[in-house]
Amino acid sequence: MSLSIKEAAQILRDGGLVAFPTETVYGLGANALDASAVAKIFETKGRPQSSPLIVHASSIAMARSLVTEWPREAKELAQRWWPGPLTLVLPKAAHIPDIVTAGLPTVGVRVPAHPVALELIEAAGLPLAAPSANRFKELSPTTAAHVRAAFGDIIPVLDGGPTLVGIESTVVSIAVGKITLLRPGMIALGEIEQAVTPAGPHPSPGMHERHYSPRTPLLIVNTPSEMPDRRGAYVWWNTSGLTARSLRMPDDPIAYARRIYSVLHDLDEENWPWIAVEAPPDTSGWAAIADRLKRAASK
Ligand code: AMP
Ligand code: MG
Repeated sequence: MSLSIKEAAQILRDGGLVAFPTETVYGLGANALDASAVAKIFETKGRPQSSPLIVHASSIAMARSLVTEWPREAKELAQRWWPGPLTLVLPKAAHIPDIVTAGLPTVGVRVPAHPVALELIEAAGLPLAAPSANRFKELSPTTAAHVRAAFGDIIPVLDGGPTLVGIESTVVSIAVGKITLLRPGMIALGEIEQAVTPAGPHPSPGMHERHYSPRTPLLIVNTPSEMPDRRGAYVWWNTSGLTARSLRMPDDPIAYARRIYSVLHDLDEENWPWIAVEAPPDTSGWAAIADRLKRAASK
């Protein structure tokens, strides 16, 4: 079942859902200005309505129409990274329904760096509210096949190949000269602070502890000796170890991020008794990966 961008845009204008590729992960999109369309996203994912959605725009101008303030920091960050994996949280415009923002007075907006996503938003002529196209708390999808495995035929999917970044966007809030990290991503807080003048302060996570999880028990090990036995799958980047299934990852965080969800999806399908992942380095370039692995391993 292959879907054209034109057909997908019509489904969105009619209040339906479409899964589409972005550079981070596949999104489950709806018209961000239609509360009942957005409600379908929460129902389909099994996501609690207390969790706000990111709204995707095809241009800086469209993103600005969704917020009531556009401070200098927003302007600088958007110019530097959009289209790209950076979400800016700003005071929301009145026409964004409360369901999109979980009742918050702010909205997260970004312009994704994927030609299919941009064409879809343009063709629909609408901003798209879109979380990752997976069931709540399960692994995020980085291919159209991952989306189909989660939702079968109930969600039409635009196939744009495997995603390039591979994990979700960096999320920062911007309020009167203060930039706060809400979720780490492949664009590091340090880079963001350097891109604006003057620098802002400190990280503040605050999401569900368990998230981005495979069904198979996942543990993070510092050395292969910490694995429970030899029956499971071991995902390493630096130190190999002898197990039933051993999988080597790139030692570069950008290449690692691109592959990690796909590797976890595959190993999950193979039904190992456990999956062990070698702990990533404790450096800023790996911070977003360490964050996702910690959540995936959390019970
Ligand atoms: P996702 O599950 O990939 O759709 O990501 C949604 C994430 O975006 C949330 O977990 C928050 O970190 C962030 N987010 C979106 N909108 C807001 C908002 N209005 N205020 C704070 N964080 C937000
Ligand atoms: Mg998600």
